[in-house]
Amino acid sequence: MPAGPTPHRHAAASRASTPHAVTPGALFQLVRDGHADSRAGLARATGLARSTVSQRVDELLLAGLLVERGDGPSTGGRPPTRLAFDSHGGVVLCADLGATHCRLAVSDLDASILAERPDEMDIANGPDVVLPWAQERFADLLHEVGRSPAEVRGIGVGLPGPVEFAAGRAVNPPIMPGWDGVSVPEAFAARYPGVPVLVDNDVNVMAIGEYWTSWRHDVDDLLFVKVATGIGCGIVSRGALHRGADGTAGDLGHVQVPDAGDALCRCGNRGCVEAVASGGALARRLTAAGIDAHDSRDVVALVRAGNVEASTLVRQAGRLVGEVLAGAVNFFNPAVIVLGGDLAHAHEQFFAGVREIVYRRSTALATQHLQVARSRLDDRAGVIGCAVTVIEDVLSPAAIDAGLAAHAAQEATA
Ligand SMILES: [Zn+2]
Repeated sequence: MPAGPTPHRHAAASRASTPHAVTPGALFQLVRDGHADSRAGLARATGLARSTVSQRVDELLLAGLLVERGDGPSTGGRPPTRLAFDSHGGVVLCADLGATHCRLAVSDLDASILAERPDEMDIANGPDVVLPWAQERFADLLHEVGRSPAEVRGIGVGLPGPVEFAAGRAVNPPIMPGWDGVSVPEAFAARYPGVPVLVDNDVNVMAIGEYWTSWRHDVDDLLFVKVATGIGCGIVSRGALHRGADGTAGDLGHVQVPDAGDALCRCGNRGCVEAVASGGALARRLTAAGIDAHDSRDVVALVRAGNVEASTLVRQAGRLVGEVLAGAVNFFNPAVIVLGGDLAHAHEQFFAGVREIVYRRSTALATQHLQVARSRLDDRAGVIGCAVTVIEDVLSPAAIDAGLAAHAAQEATA
């Protein structure tokens, strides 16, 4: 049975089928999604009168959200104009902050990265050091691409710990001393007044980056699994990130696996998959065996150098992660599992180990269409996910309508 289109993916179009609900924001969404590129096309898609469409399109043109381009398909005579979303009409600042590494970037409004910079940075230095440092890097990047702070439409930040998304702050993050309860948006408010700052867990932003870039047109349900120093999972359900009641959904690292023995986990429990199969766990086991390794990157370097012990451990880790994912597949029935993080790319056998166990241990129905893929964005998944998180927020139909209404109110009182 072919999978039919699901309702949410065409939410803009179905909203648009009821003329009274067709706000300028809804028309903008139709153009941005590629469903229409002319006033006539918008009138056809929505059932609105041409005059009403023209009036709303004029508002969007005036606000700089849409532009007219003289390159429509020619029918002879004057070249027709085409309506297009102006992805250069602003920029987004993106900060993917890891435990010891980070990547900062400037993107345009379709999440294309204009400039980026990977860096060493210790999150344990605390927010009073890390956030001002990030502001300086952002200023450098804006200068590099020739854009001004006034053009910043939003700021996206990924943090390596649990995050209360609505408030933009980390909550009891185990590896981030000094960050508990600190409001990240407040730190940016002075230099970027009124600019939305969206903060999320680093694995969630990676999941959204991968989904938006490679999968959103084809699938609705995806798991992104990061296996690096720790193990975490971002859940995309019906095309949107699923954070759970308290923002901790996808904390896969602390699921027990029968073959994990009684290894003590940093969460205080024993037998968690993270305690035996993460890059950190493998580094500790190699060190105990007299092989120098401090973190997941060292493990990867050993595998690439042909170290037999490291290769064997990575193969076993793939099967252990596969055991946990087999349960997740039965529970959630994703269309795709994307594997990212250092270990996912360290060794073909890690990937093969995950696949082998997932397909063997999950039910036949859950795996008949399941794809297991590697991350396509790798180290850039986080910054692209930060950009997408911001763009989907500030360019949503509701946000566009609110912005136009506020502008109209300002005009009226001027
Ligand atoms: Zn644990």
